[in-house]
Amino acid sequence: MDKPTIVWKGSPNYSSRNGYKTLAIVDHIMDGTLPGTDSWFANPASKVSSHFGVGKNGAIHQYVKLENSAWANGSVNKPNWPLLISGVNPNYYTVSIEHEGKSGDVMPEVQYQATLALHRWLIATLGIPVTRDTIIGHNRIDSVNRSRCPGTGFPWDRLFQDLQGGNDVLKVAVLLYTKEDFWAGVDVAVRNGNCAIFVRAADLSIPTEAMSAQKLIVIGGPTTKHSNEVLLSGNDKYQTAAAVAKYLG
Ligand SMILES: [Zn+2]
Repeated sequence: MDKPTIVWKGSPNYSSRNGYKTLAIVDHIMDGTLPGTDSWFANPASKVSSHFGVGKNGAIHQYVKLENSAWANGSVNKPNWPLLISGVNPNYYTVSIEHEGKSGDVMPEVQYQATLALHRWLIATLGIPVTRDTIIGHNRIDSVNRSRCPGTGFPWDRLFQDLQGGNDVLKVAVLLYTKEDFWAGVDVAVRNGNCAIFVRAADLSIPTEAMSAQKLIVIGGPTTKHSNEVLLSGNDKYQTAAAVAKYLG
């Protein structure tokens, strides 16, 4: 994945990630200009920042390092986001992208291509799955005061289509927790036609490709929180085998 051209601007307004892994990308609209945002985020008195800002001319500015928290999503107000961690500031586990323009503006093509490249690079770098719950608008965290962020002009459908790679999207993936479940995995894969089998790594991380599939079938382990998951797991290998057998019918 090529890293897009990013101009470092910096901001004094950031904190540590407090030990949290980055789970999601949050998209915003500036309701202003890129130069105005540059100076607002450079001002300690503003107490706000995002990781990135994308201009209408396609320029990408960075204000906060990925390993730190920007100050863009701290206020939670009537949220509509299943991955929200109760009682934890969302800034700790999100990366934020601001977009130049007003809420409702249609994005110029060059700005769209810049933010698409930035999303692609962040997805590859941070291992963020391409789902409607891991790439979200600010309004999903604060539906009251930020209901128009990023607003009706934001090209969600086109963005997801492009991020999922058109026809190349993996329809179904099977995720195994141990190699002992391999043949059960093959049976489930055959049942679903053309699909990929993944064995979860020793560190229990979930392969990005598996999370990007439209449907994820998990055999013998806990939920991945994939939005379209089929969980075939029991308390032991016998219960798991029974769940697989029942699924195969
Ligand atoms: Zn916002």
